[in-house]
Amino acid sequence: MKKSTVEDIVLTSMNTTGEQFADRAAIERYQFRRLRQTIDHAVAHSPFYRTRMAGTAATDITDHGALSRLPFTYEDDLRRSGQDMLCVSQDEVARIITMQSSGTTGPPKRLFFTEEDLERTIDFFHHGMKSLVKAGQKVLILLPGATADSTGDLLARALERMDVASRIYGLVDDPQQATEEVFAENFDAIVGFPVQLLALSRTLAGQSVTAGQIKSILLCSDYIPRTVCDELSAKWQCRVFSHYGTVETGLGGGVECEGLCGCHLREADLLFEVVCPRTGVSLSSGEWGEIVFSTLTRRGMPLIRYRTGDYGRLLDGPCMCGSHIARLDKVRGRIDQVRQLDNGQALSMDVLDEILLAIPGLLDFQPVLQKENGRDSLTVRLAVIPANRDEVFQQAALLLKGVAQLKNIRVILEASPTGLINKAKRIIEDKRGKISHETAYQAGL
Ligand SMILES: [Zn+2]
Repeated sequence: MKKSTVEDIVLTSMNTTGEQFADRAAIERYQFRRLRQTIDHAVAHSPFYRTRMAGTAATDITDHGALSRLPFTYEDDLRRSGQDMLCVSQDEVARIITMQSSGTTGPPKRLFFTEEDLERTIDFFHHGMKSLVKAGQKVLILLPGATADSTGDLLARALERMDVASRIYGLVDDPQQATEEVFAENFDAIVGFPVQLLALSRTLAGQSVTAGQIKSILLCSDYIPRTVCDELSAKWQCRVFSHYGTVETGLGGGVECEGLCGCHLREADLLFEVVCPRTGVSLSSGEWGEIVFSTLTRRGMPLIRYRTGDYGRLLDGPCMCGSHIARLDKVRGRIDQVRQLDNGQALSMDVLDEILLAIPGLLDFQPVLQKENGRDSLTVRLAVIPANRDEVFQQAALLLKGVAQLKNIRVILEASPTGLINKAKRIIEDKRGKISHETAYQAGL
């Protein structure tokens, strides 16, 4: 088995600081050295960090104990103080990514990147993709890529560096229409959202793809259900890799090696931790909690102990590929998207995904929580292949009956009004009014 290709980038970065081998102790020495430089850079150039880090001596940050005493940075800080977190002049900003969360009326979240920051993302994509494809092959990219420096565009540029051709299709909403177009060409690999790939594979054109033609798939940008990985790898006889990344991590964050057992993290540029979502106390490898990271090389807008809101855990020990680069287990979704039900249970999208997406003939689904006569009810809108409508509804009803979290909750199944699939991160829509997040933790998240 080939060692994680992420290790090459980490080793190259470590060499610049004199480290020779990527064992755990050396990686951490490198990371803390870079973190101290990042804190100095942030405090020198950002009014936000000058205040937030007041009283902190960067020279003291030499291990995880010291790191755990540093203050966190929150999504809310990005919204309120984004401009004050910028560490370079506007002239040096190459790309700004603006995100307005649905349902919020506050200021949007803005992330600033310099040319150098984007180059490190391309370099990560370049090395990460070496586990999936080789020179002369072709990749279908089902990610937004119309604008310069968008995820699809950066990925396509990374692939060019390894003489791999690509086609950016963008996000799919009508899988029937998309498959006729995309499967008319031969691709060696596909990159996209799990549900988008699953839906494509379930159309007639998707089912007639010759086994072995598509050699690898990279799933990203949403919860990655085990059932989707299993179905795609069995149907197309290909390897299914996972990627973890957010806009805040600089789009790339970690990618699986051939061992397919957790994403090797981008440790040259990011230092990851996991903390208790409620108390903020640092947790050990193997323990589930909130993913937190600090940037180590970001110039435009460094993030120090940034709380991602994602629920995950670090995996213990070296990988079966032989690399000591830390690995992140399957991320289970966003902590604030866990819904507390009036039967005392907590319901999250990953639970529904693992159960419902296993139904053949289903393309996507949208769960909506509502109040009905004062009680919680769950409406699930199903996007189906028309010929399979009846059996999909029957199976969904049967499977949802067996979900412990839905005991005593009325479940209503409806046909999706559009029949199209979701083009964004999928969530359980909550129309019941405000529910405290605290209750979700109490329910044993
Ligand atoms: Zn590995």
